[in-house]
Amino acid sequence: MSNVTSEVKTLKNYIGGEWVEAKSDQTEEVYNPATGEVIARVPISSKEDVDYAVNVAKVAFEDWKEVPVPKRARILFKYQQLLVEHWDELAELITLENGKNLKEAKGEVQRGIENVEFATGAPTLMMGDQLPSIAKGLESGVQRYPIGVIGGITPFNFPMMVPCWMFPMAIATGNSFVMKPSERTPLLANRLAELLEEAGLPKGVFNIVHGAHDVVNGLLDHKKVAAISFVGSQPVAEYVYKRGTENLKRVQALAGAKNHSIVLNDANMDNASTQILNAAFGSAGERCMAASVVAVEESVADEFIEQLKKKTDEIKIGNGLEDDVFLGPVIREQHKERTIGYIEKGEQEGAKLIRDGRQDNTSQENGYFVGPTIFDNVTTEMKIWQDEIFAPVLSIVRVKNLDEAVEVTNESPFANGACIFTRDGGSVRQFRETIDAGMLGVNIGVPAPMAFFPFSGWKNSFYGDLHANGKDGVEFFTRKKVMTTRWV
Ligand code: NAD
Repeated sequence: MSNVTSEVKTLKNYIGGEWVEAKSDQTEEVYNPATGEVIARVPISSKEDVDYAVNVAKVAFEDWKEVPVPKRARILFKYQQLLVEHWDELAELITLENGKNLKEAKGEVQRGIENVEFATGAPTLMMGDQLPSIAKGLESGVQRYPIGVIGGITPFNFPMMVPCWMFPMAIATGNSFVMKPSERTPLLANRLAELLEEAGLPKGVFNIVHGAHDVVNGLLDHKKVAAISFVGSQPVAEYVYKRGTENLKRVQALAGAKNHSIVLNDANMDNASTQILNAAFGSAGERCMAASVVAVEESVADEFIEQLKKKTDEIKIGNGLEDDVFLGPVIREQHKERTIGYIEKGEQEGAKLIRDGRQDNTSQENGYFVGPTIFDNVTTEMKIWQDEIFAPVLSIVRVKNLDEAVEVTNESPFANGACIFTRDGGSVRQFRETIDAGMLGVNIGVPAPMAFFPFSGWKNSFYGDLHANGKDGVEFFTRKKVMTTRWV
């Protein structure tokens, strides 16, 4: 099925500041999803490779934790400059291996850079607290320290942003890091490593081991790995959380989603339809914050659907590197087949297919394209309502009012994001107080928090305690000592 050419390179792992071949000789092909071409081979490394990387990272940690925090931050300032200089190149690489359009890819680079900027605040963020008088002549203070070697495991859908949720703060706070990027989008990770080296990061502080399950299990089981930061699908997040915590590691596991938007009858319909279109079909629906269900008040449902469909029909589908393309491919042929399976399932379940993305054409013959698909009259018994499809498929549920919209939304086992479209303050308050979700939006489609706030899923969208980013991120990558002193 592949048009693999002899020039295709096999990527290397990055360990101890060197590009090294994996000890395992197993590889997997990496595709450009817009063309179906093989663009690289990624090594499927073994537990032996993980062991090597973790041992190197552990040695590097012993020196790195002693480097003064402002000096560590200064390397990240330099890194930020390099990322800005290489912005376009990084974005093109994201589009090449992930498929999202170039504008979205540039936005993703920006999100990554923002995380680096936040991490440069480590000297302030790592500060402890003091109380000079807890009893007569007695004082207490708390100090913050790094925890050791961190394992980072990332998904395919944000090859830059998600790794940047992890390693900049982890290393700024004095830890060393071993990353396993998605085997479907491994190219950008290597570029991030090259730029870190250029920024002056000491060898061994940041490492990459490419691969799949064996690398993940190697990190989860390794005695010298102190904590695991994972982002990916729900079943794998649950597995990683259970196995990691069973091995007594600190684990945060951000998982899958099925995000709901609620459209009330007083909403600005033009804004609601545009925002929901972007949230449902942007990045080909492959966002953990994608809008996948809209609960719309019956009295405005026809008007909302008409506007949404009209705007959706104008979308340009194709290779994300081409001008004006909005919708790129999904990540792999199997994912396209799976999505088509869900569209067939929706029809069998009795939902009304009002826009069929299977019929859309693109100029790219061999890419993995599915056009924007909209179902009306969806109910909570249907698989298309229940499952994360992770593709440009949107389900519309007609509801009587806000009470019913909240009830429907809260039936989902996922609870990442939820949005409301309304101009009524009371409805916004009711939504905020009653909805089960960690990230809320009002009259916006993708309420993804910026780097200085936590990325905060609930229920089956998150396993752990401390979320990624914000103060939670600082807390996750540090541990504390409390000292009580009597000066005599
Ligand atoms: P995935 O779960 O298939 O893969 C994530 C990582 O886990 C990859 O590095 C992969 O190699 C590894 N992995 C996969 N299966 C494994 C297994 N059985 N054992 C051990 N390791 C395994 O996820 P994906 O398809 O790459 O990414 C999409 C998913 O990530 C979606 O569900 C999306 O919602 C979720 N996601 C969530 C967030 C969030 O913040 N909650 C952010 C981005 C993506």
